[in-house]
Amino acid sequence: MGHWGAMSDSTPRTLPLVMAEPRGRAKPPRHLADLSLDERASYAAGLGLQAFRAKQLSTHYFERLVDDPAEMTDLPSTQRGELVAAFLPPLMTPIRTLEADRGTTRKTLWRLFDNALVESVLMRYPDRVTMCVSSQAGCGMACPFCATGQGGLQRNMSTAEIVEQVVAGARSLARGEVPGGPGRVSNVVFMGMGEPLANFKAVVGALRRLTEPAPSGLGMSARGVTVSTVGLVPRINQLASLGIPVTLALSLHAPDDELRNELVPINNRFSVGETVDAAWNYARVTKRRVSIEYAMMRGINDQAWRADLLADVLLARGDWGWVHVNLIPLNPTPGSRWTASDPADEREFVRRLEARGIPTTVRDTRGREIDGACGQLAATEV
Ligand code: SAH
Repeated sequence: MGHWGAMSDSTPRTLPLVMAEPRGRAKPPRHLADLSLDERASYAAGLGLQAFRAKQLSTHYFERLVDDPAEMTDLPSTQRGELVAAFLPPLMTPIRTLEADRGTTRKTLWRLFDNALVESVLMRYPDRVTMCVSSQAGCGMACPFCATGQGGLQRNMSTAEIVEQVVAGARSLARGEVPGGPGRVSNVVFMGMGEPLANFKAVVGALRRLTEPAPSGLGMSARGVTVSTVGLVPRINQLASLGIPVTLALSLHAPDDELRNELVPINNRFSVGETVDAAWNYARVTKRRVSIEYAMMRGINDQAWRADLLADVLLARGDWGWVHVNLIPLNPTPGSRWTASDPADEREFVRRLEARGIPTTVRDTRGREIDGACGQLAATEV
């Protein structure tokens, strides 16, 4: 091992952004996806139901992807209503689905039990299907270039509300509703609405449900799951210690504090140095390559000198391939003063990073015309 750069003090700090739910506020209905397999069994027992019913319901939900009680023929018809009401209450109603790319990109607007609105996006590629999910209704991080950031935070989503977005996508794929024939969800990215690490407990629950084998969960590979964050340093460290090796994406967007303080306001609390240290530590602990997200904004963060500085900042932590950079052409949001970079500037930015040995990709902007691309999810009902 060489010198990988000094780690910053990782003493957890309190995060006033993780606010206690106001007392008396109604919670989303409890659903089997909120619970581990054991918890489901005790919940059934508590209701005077046989514990193995919980497993049968879990198989319907996670494995068979069934949602119609009439198809749950292994449950006695006299008990079916009660079991479904207790374990599989409706969590969200689709309000609208918009399609692009000949139906292979589908954005769904959902209404939750309390009328909160969230969005998810399904993207089918030749070799994979990615679900982009929301983890909060709204977002409290206030990044000025992001549509969701403009409306503030409404509330955290529950584990089951997060998981249900993936299960809904899996169902429509299994039923052949997406062009390309029946298929499965291979990837999940927490890049919809919300800051996943500000809703840590529910998001970790969702990561468990996505990766636990059926009938406990969906049985996805952790490497197919990406959690994207503005960089809540103590939470990144906590996630690293959990042993669920999901991919971490860090929304950096600037290599210097002066600019990042403006683009990603949480930087006023956790500096670029501390944040990149936490990302590096995540890569070290999980052996998963971290992805640095960088939305290219014309004349703002796309200068050649900033590409060089970004390379310096990343390589100061080591050059063992712990990181790659994903440039996102900015999707201008209504009223935004920023626009996407000139293609020539983008190419030069890529060239400079690659010249320093940093793997760099440019994200495609699927779903742009249905406002389904990164940072465009605003969940307005027109
Ligand atoms: N709160 C998480 C998830 C947000 S969405 C996070 O910040 O990482 C996922 C990515 O889309 C983030 O990198 C976010 O900064 C980026 N993004 C937001 N608005 C955007 C826009 N208008 N154009 C391009 N990318 C955007």
